[in-house]
Amino acid sequence: MPGILVFCETKDGKLKKVSREALSIGRKLAEKTGGDLAAVVVGSQAASLAADAGHYGAKKLYAVESAALDSYTTGQTTAAVKQAVDDFKPSVLLMGGTSNGRDLAPRLAARLGVGVASDVDQLDWTDGKLRARRSIYSGKVFGRVEISGTPAIATTRPNAFSAEVVAGGGAADVVKVSFTPVEVKSKLLETKTPEAGELTIAEADIIVSGGRGLKEAQNFSYIRDLAHAIGGAVGASRATVDAGWIDHQHQVGQTGRVVSPNVYIAAGISGAIQHLAGMSSSKHIIAINKDPEAPIFRVADLGVVGDLFTILPALTEEVKKAKAH
Ligand SMILES: Cc1cc2nc3c(=O)[nH]c(=O)nc-3n(C[C@H](O)[C@H](O)[C@H](O)COP(=O)(O)OP(=O)(O)OC[C@H]3O[C@@H](n4cnc5c(N)ncnc54)[C@H](O)[C@@H]3O)c2cc1C
Repeated sequence: MPGILVFCETKDGKLKKVSREALSIGRKLAEKTGGDLAAVVVGSQAASLAADAGHYGAKKLYAVESAALDSYTTGQTTAAVKQAVDDFKPSVLLMGGTSNGRDLAPRLAARLGVGVASDVDQLDWTDGKLRARRSIYSGKVFGRVEISGTPAIATTRPNAFSAEVVAGGGAADVVKVSFTPVEVKSKLLETKTPEAGELTIAEADIIVSGGRGLKEAQNFSYIRDLAHAIGGAVGASRATVDAGWIDHQHQVGQTGRVVSPNVYIAAGISGAIQHLAGMSSSKHIIAINKDPEAPIFRVADLGVVGDLFTILPALTEEVKKAKAH
C-alpha cells in the first residue's frame, strides 16, 4: 500500500504547526492512496510526540532517538530520516517548508535519486502520481508539477494547508529506529532564538510588516506595538533589513521568507515585485501607504492611504480597546 511519511519538526516538546499541516494534507493523500500515514520524528524525546502525531492522523511514529539529533544538522538528520524511509518505504515523503525542511528535502531527494517539489500549496494523488502546485517566477504564475520517483518528496508552504485534528485519533504506534550518528562535515556553532514572546514570521497567523516609510530603525516600535497588541509577528521589507534597522530573519520576500498568514499588514512598504513574491498568497492583505499609486494597493484587500505614524498608533489603540472588552 502506498503510504505517506511526514518528517515532523518539534518546538517546546510539541509538533510545529507546519508539521501538523503536513500531517493533515498527508492524511488526505493517504485516504486517496489507501495507504497508512506515518510520522518520523528525530531527537532524544522523539517517542513522546506519539499522541500529538496521532491527533493529526498518524498511525505510526518512527522515533529516531539520539542526542546527536537534538539540534538539526543536515548530515545527521538526512541519515536518520533515510533510515525511516528505508523501513516504511513510503510513496510520498512530506515535510514543512521551514529552513530545515528546505535544506533536508533536496538532500534526501539526491540521496534517494527521486524528485522533489518545494514550497507547494496544493497536493493531490492521481493516477499513482503525486501532483503539486507551486508558485514560480517570484509568485507571478503557478506551476503544476508531477513528481517522479518513489518516494515523491515535497515541502509544504507554511499556512497553505490547514492543520486538522482527527476526531478520536489515538496516539500513533511508536516504531523505534536505531541510529548510529554518522560522520558529518558541519557542526552547529550557535542557535539564535527570537526574543521571548516574539513570534517568527514563518508560522505566524498575523504579520505586521514595516518598510522604508518608517524612516528610521527606532520607528519599528510602531510595528512592534501593533504586532504585540494583535498577537502577530514582525515582518520587514528588504530595504529596512539592508539599512540595518532589523534582522534578516524578519525579511519577507524573494530573498527573505515566503509567508502565507491569515492577515498581512504592510505599512510604509511600496510593494516591489520581490516583496510581493513573499506575501501575495496571504489570505487578507491590508496596506497602509501615503502614496495612493503604491503598487502594494494592487494586491491589497484593504488599502489605507495615509500617514503610518498616525494610523498605526490609532490602530494599536483600537485593538487594545477591543481586546479589553
Ligand atoms: C534580487 C532582488 C531581491 C530582492 N528581495 C527582496 C525581498 O526579499 N524583500 C523585499 O522586501 N525586497 C526585496 N528586494 C528589494 C525590492 O526591490 C525593493 O527595493 C524593496 O522591497 C523596497 O522596500 P520598501 O517598500 O520598504 O521601500 P520603498 O520602495 O522605498 O517604499 C517605501 C514606501 O513607504 C511609503 N511611505 C513613506 N512614508 C510613509 C508614511 N509616513 N506613511 C505611509 N507610507 C509611507 C512610500 O510611499 C513608499 O511606497 C529585492 C531586490 C532585488 C533586486
